[in-house]
Amino acid sequence: MSSPINFDFHCHSTVSDGLLPPAQVVARAADRGVSHLALTDHDDIDGLPEARQAAAAAELVLVNGVEISIEWENHPIHVVGLGFDASHPDLVAGLASVRGGRVERARRMGDAFAAIGIPGVFEGAMRHAGNPLLISRSHFARHLVEIGLFKEPRNVFDHYLVPGKPGYVEHRWASLGDAMGWIHAAGGVAVVAHPARYKISNAQMRRFLSDFKDLGGQAIEVVCGSHSPDHVLHYARLARHFAFHASRGSDFHGAGESYVDLGGLPSLPEDLKPVWRLLDL
Ligand code: AMP
Ligand code: MN
Ligand code: MN
Ligand code: MN
Repeated sequence: MSSPINFDFHCHSTVSDGLLPPAQVVARAADRGVSHLALTDHDDIDGLPEARQAAAAAELVLVNGVEISIEWENHPIHVVGLGFDASHPDLVAGLASVRGGRVERARRMGDAFAAIGIPGVFEGAMRHAGNPLLISRSHFARHLVEIGLFKEPRNVFDHYLVPGKPGYVEHRWASLGDAMGWIHAAGGVAVVAHPARYKISNAQMRRFLSDFKDLGGQAIEVVCGSHSPDHVLHYARLARHFAFHASRGSDFHGAGESYVDLGGLPSLPEDLKPVWRLLDL
């Protein structure tokens, strides 16, 4: 008899802002009972070959994944792509274009910190980046913790790294249509990541989900590392309303930095269609 599916379709490695290399993410997931894992680094799929090798050794099924940074009506939003052909030229070029702006953005963030009397922050953040092209706000947060400004990265976000705070700079990400086009061209399934995290109204969320569906979007994360039990109920209702499949993902970045460990999530509400049904597992 085969064991039940325990899937975790959202996590990060050192290829973006995770703390463990891809092979260690996979080994940890397998140790924690995950049977099907998607590594979903931000805007980069370079961790997939290493993850695939480790998955074969761990007897875990690896699903190709990525978390694309987009903007919709000026709001930063994340769309996860699953089960795509990782060599498809549209996807590969599209992701390269999203990554392209990150170093320049990080320099502007460094300048913003220098302007409030905190020098060397760009260089400090870069030292934390396993992949310099994927320099992210997480690496800035880790540097500011390291120099003793705060105890926890999340405190750095609240004080410095979110809109309206001195270390936040505006940035142009991919459009929703472009990101969906790359995922679909490569044969993948598009999933809205952690919908409760966006600073948009309920009406805007419904409009966003409707745009996403019009562009061929098929799933949303219902159970994820940043969702409370109430969020799960709310997004389960929206999944039913829009006839979306449901995904489940920890958004694990590293022990001590993530509330939820790999595979450490409750099950999806039973009536929802799990997103893995759309994939060739
Ligand atoms: P970036 O893609 O550079 O804008 O960085 C976004 C990343 O920062 C996310 O993927 C999370 O890993 C992390 N992040 C965003 N907001 C917070 C927060 N409030 N607390 C901790 N980490 C956060
Ligand atoms: Mn992240
Ligand atoms: Mn995200
Ligand atoms: Mn994520």
